[in-house]
Amino acid sequence: MPEEQEIETFAFQAEIAQLMSLIINTFYSNKEIFLRELISNSSDALDKIRYESLTDPSKLGEQKELYIRIIPNKDEKTLTIIDTGIGMTKADMINNLGTIAKSGTKAFMEALQAGADISMIGQFGVGFYSAYLVADKVTVHSKHNDDEQYIWESAAGGSFTIRPDSSEPLGRGTKIILHLKEDQIEYSEERRIKEIVKKHSQFIAYPIKLMVQKEREKEISDDEEEPAADDKEKTDEEKKDDGEEKEPDDAKIEDVDEEKEKKPKKKMIKEKYNDEEELNKTKPLWMRNPDEISQEEYGEFYKSLTNDWDEHLAVKHFSVEGQLEFRALLFIPKRAPFDLFENKKQKNNIKLYVRRVFIMENCEELIPEYLNFIKGVVDSEDLPLNISREMLQQNKILKVIRKNLVKKCLELFEELNDDKEQFKKFYEQFSKNIKLGIHEDTTNRKKLADLLRYHTSASGDEICSLKDYVSRMKENQKHIYFITGESRDIVAHSAFVERVCKRGYEVIYMVDPIDEYCVQQLKEYDGKTLVSVTKEGLELPEDEAEKKKLEEDKKRFEDLCKAMKDILDKKVEKVLVSNRLVSSPCCIVTSQYGWSANMERIMKAQALRDSSTMGYMAAKKNLEINPDHPVVEKLRQKVEIDKNDKSVKDLVNLLFETALLCSGFGLEDPQTHASRIYRMIKLGLGIDEDENVVDDGGDVMVEPTVPDSQAQAADVSRMEEVD
Ligand code: ADP
Ligand code: MG
Repeated sequence: MPEEQEIETFAFQAEIAQLMSLIINTFYSNKEIFLRELISNSSDALDKIRYESLTDPSKLGEQKELYIRIIPNKDEKTLTIIDTGIGMTKADMINNLGTIAKSGTKAFMEALQAGADISMIGQFGVGFYSAYLVADKVTVHSKHNDDEQYIWESAAGGSFTIRPDSSEPLGRGTKIILHLKEDQIEYSEERRIKEIVKKHSQFIAYPIKLMVQKEREKEISDDEEEPAADDKEKTDEEKKDDGEEKEPDDAKIEDVDEEKEKKPKKKMIKEKYNDEEELNKTKPLWMRNPDEISQEEYGEFYKSLTNDWDEHLAVKHFSVEGQLEFRALLFIPKRAPFDLFENKKQKNNIKLYVRRVFIMENCEELIPEYLNFIKGVVDSEDLPLNISREMLQQNKILKVIRKNLVKKCLELFEELNDDKEQFKKFYEQFSKNIKLGIHEDTTNRKKLADLLRYHTSASGDEICSLKDYVSRMKENQKHIYFITGESRDIVAHSAFVERVCKRGYEVIYMVDPIDEYCVQQLKEYDGKTLVSVTKEGLELPEDEAEKKKLEEDKKRFEDLCKAMKDILDKKVEKVLVSNRLVSSPCCIVTSQYGWSANMERIMKAQALRDSSTMGYMAAKKNLEINPDHPVVEKLRQKVEIDKNDKSVKDLVNLLFETALLCSGFGLEDPQTHASRIYRMIKLGLGIDEDENVVDDGGDVMVEPTVPDSQAQAADVSRMEEVD
């Protein structure tokens, strides 16, 4: 029967025709995604037959093996994709490949208008047409269990044809032949295909086999002609017998006749033969039983997933079942990436799969920002395959997955804790993330706080946990004491720590800028309040005698405090008698809720900060004086004798500025401070205040100007009394 008679022609539904011409005519360079779409369709089709066969194994029939095969043909300029999936009936082909419009068709075109990328095509349920990115004609052979084998074919142009297929029977499944455009023949190259499959489809749950051409040495008689390589496709039968060592079945060696027997001389020739290579050897590891996976396998998988050259530090492999089903693999890398906190828009590294089909990278909804260093894979059984990013945002399934991922990450961190060395490595790299987590994640704050490690005034070179600290707390100690600052050295020698340590309490050193943010949220641990030793209201447990002394000191120094506040005016909120100092005459304490000196330093260092915050958040400073310090006592006496003693003003300012520096603040006006110090030096050296330095050239070296001109030079002679 002549085939022409049976060819039926159909018009594409209008929007589909429009979409196809858009795909053909839009300039778009990332064409390779067509293969991902076709493989994904094959994988879907395989999923469907696998699912049917679960209840009715006979559905698999003769074609029991489930696979995808890719056959490039350079000579014919074709690329063929075969699967042994469910296949399509004639009606399926007419409906699904051209006449029934999907809502996604229009939506995708609109999205393209709005700047979407063609590679998003799969999410709109029209991925099949991406074949026209690289092909000018597409031929689809398909065999469904319920129907005969048919051919669908279209060179676009608004129509497609359907005809019965009397060519090689498929058994079951679909064979798509792409007739590549002249300028797209790179997609008939083995190398290119391998590359694309590795990039986009490596975790497809069915084997993806690529037909490759290989060469091997073969011994033949001397006068034998070099056999031409035979590229003909092998049948399945042939392939089964086609072991590497065996003689090729498909490389025919011609002209073997009796003549040859007489000439036993042999020579080696190269012959070409066809072979199959499985491209997705990295099987979906997460689908396997964790008990049967070695650490090496996890390492390999991790490397292929992340392009890291080193193996992971730790891994968590788990599945969640019940109302919602998913599997996940989470890895902690050994190193933090150099740009971990650099970009404003944080990427995360969790790949989302839906039933083994890769959906997207960096799925933001899957994991909170502070866990952005975790790499891994999530494979959901419940999400729809054509889920878009927009849909993800409100997706309830995703919210549940996210909650579980966070929980598992925390479990993983806790497990690391069992191995001190491992944990140390982890903490060195990712402590910032933990601290950010404490700031952000209210629900898990307590668990995250358990992971914190610090040097303390009592821990020596070791870092210790808050739990360790609490276990060492004194009987009468109610609070956890800490100090924030620029470096361990600076805080260890600070006046603030002095007294607390002298009283036998331990102080935690927080010297990472992010600690400031972290303690803002971490107000307590194990029922104990965290108290900054640099802020006002520090109360050390005291006995009666001490309390009495402090009361007396307050009275005794009341006038001095008042006089100092008058001098310093707006520069300080209050001047108070301190109970926290031992060897320093005074220090600057900040208010409970404003910034600490360290925070002010950090904020000033942030160039792009809105300067208005500086105003209201800037540390409110109290000057605390040490009642037991001779300098303070002498000053008190001076003020008692003459409140308006002019040298007092200069001395108070000098004390204040020095305290600022010691307490970790910068000076607003270093010039003024410097000139006060210069005058001190001059005094020490017995130089007359009016004497200027004259060099050989006779130029006068200008003395630092003193804006605060009331602090007159005339009074300076009295500064001798300071010492
Ligand atoms: P989607 O995969 O999102 O449904 P596509 O445009 O990629 O959208 O595919 C359209 C339809 O064509 C599929 O839903 C399926 O019914 C059919 N189809 C495509 N490729 C195959 C295949 N290899 N085997 C069976 N059916 C297929
Ligand atoms: Mg598809």
